[in-house]
Formats: sequence, structure tokens, C-alpha cells
Amino acid sequence: MARVDSRPKRLYVEADLAGGTVVRADRKQSHYLLDVLRLADNDTVLLFNGRDGEWQARLVTGPARSLGIEVVERTRKQDAAGNLDYLFAPLKHARLDYMVEKAVEMGASRLRPVLTRYTQTQRVNLDRMRKNAIEAAEQCGTLRLPELVEPQPLATVLTSWEAERVLIFCDEAADPSDPVAALSGARTETLAGPMPIAVLVGPEGGFAPDERAMLLKLPHAIRLSLGPRILRADTAAVAALALVQATLGDGR
Ligand code: SAH
Repeated sequence: MARVDSRPKRLYVEADLAGGTVVRADRKQSHYLLDVLRLADNDTVLLFNGRDGEWQARLVTGPARSLGIEVVERTRKQDAAGNLDYLFAPLKHARLDYMVEKAVEMGASRLRPVLTRYTQTQRVNLDRMRKNAIEAAEQCGTLRLPELVEPQPLATVLTSWEAERVLIFCDEAADPSDPVAALSGARTETLAGPMPIAVLVGPEGGFAPDERAMLLKLPHAIRLSLGPRILRADTAAVAALALVQATLGDGR
């Protein structure tokens, strides 16, 4: 028997959200809601825009397949902004799609592609990243989309590094004996609250020795092992973000 999902569909929109306003669905959204999900006039959806929390809303169909979404009442308040950067060497299509989706599910608040010596692909399609990020955000219940940053060379990223941000860089050559202990060293607070954190996963070819040396020169760099096996970069993303969220982040 088909499983019936009774949760209302969550949709990311750009419009401001407040009770009584009507958000116009664009062509893609109305096709998705009416033809793919087969929703109808008066059906309930949930809307969020990254600023105003989450709102219950209802579909209002109009002439010529026009679709309005009337905002009814707030179901969740906007939460505080997270502060977890995820830096990664871009991968090819499907693996990058996967990595972006998983990083959003794991709560990364900023996605920063970084070009390293052995990075496989220099070009990143930010529109595609955004589409994947939106789908993941809709699905996982978060109230915000991560910020997406244009790709930058590793050296540029490191020379403009925010002094107090901890960089946890995943290094298959690090001591695998106690990753939790390696991270707990960073569990200090700054005056402004918890330390801002960044997690970095390298390309399939790994980091070059001079890149590793450059990474370790940062004031707050931690080498993190994800165990005694070599993981693919997209697996490393999930493993690293889970460990970091559990020890230093929102899983604490
Ligand atoms: N240099 C490796 C492959 C790198 S795997 C080789 O070809 O032998 C891709 C990235 O995933 C690495 O740069 C690292 O950031 C991360 N990674 C993979 N396995 C890891 C592990 N066991 N511990 C920490 N990071 C790992």
C-alpha cells in the first residue's frame, strides 16, 4: 500500500510573509502544486522565506491556472541564524547535488566552494546549487536557506579568514584514534557566543602538502579524522557535519 504523507508540503518563497497576504505562485510552483502533488483549491501548504518563520497557508486557484497562496497563520517563529560554514572542493554533477543536499540537511548555514590544487571541476553552477538547497530546506524542516558563495581559490579563502572562526579540516592523514577529543578543544565560547565554525572537506585527490601546511597555519585549525578508511568527499561531508553538530553545534 502506498504510504500516505499527511504532513503539508513545505515551500520556500521569496515574498514577505504575514497573515492575510497572498503570495502569487510562479509557473513552476503552480505546476508542481497542482499537477505533480495534485493539490486543489483550499488545500494547505506551509511557507517559509528564511526571515518570517513558517506559515500555514491555503491554495486559492484562479482563472487560467493562476494560483495564489493565502497566508493564514504562523506555525513557527524564525529561529536564530546558524553559524556553520561548509567549505568543499566542488565535485561533478550528481555528487555535488548530493553534497549540497546533505550539507543543508545537516544544518550548514553557508556553502563555500573552494578551489584546491586537485579539485576536479573549477566551475560551479550556483543556480543548480540553490535549487538543490531549496529542495533540501523544504524537505528537512529548516527555516532558512544557506547562503551560497561564489567559488574561491583556497589561498584567497585562507588569507581573508575571519580570525576567530575555527577551521575543522577533514584530513585522512590525521590521527584517527579520537575525533571527538580532537573537536572538544574547540568547545570554547567567545564574548559573542559560541565560536563560529567552518568545516572543510577536500577534493577526491586530497590536499597537496603545501595546502595542508597553509591550513595548519590558521590560528584555530583542527585536523579531523573521520576514521581509518578513506571516504569519498560526499560521504565525508555527512560524517564530518554529523560529528561537528554533535560535539560543537546544534546537536549538543
Ligand atoms: N587523498 C585521498 C582521497 C581524498 S578523499 C586519496 O586519494 O587517497 C576526499 C576528502 O574527503 C579528503 O580531502 C578529506 O577532506 C575527506 N576525507 C576522506 N576520508 C577521510 C578520513 N578518513 N578522515 C578525514 N577526512 C577524510
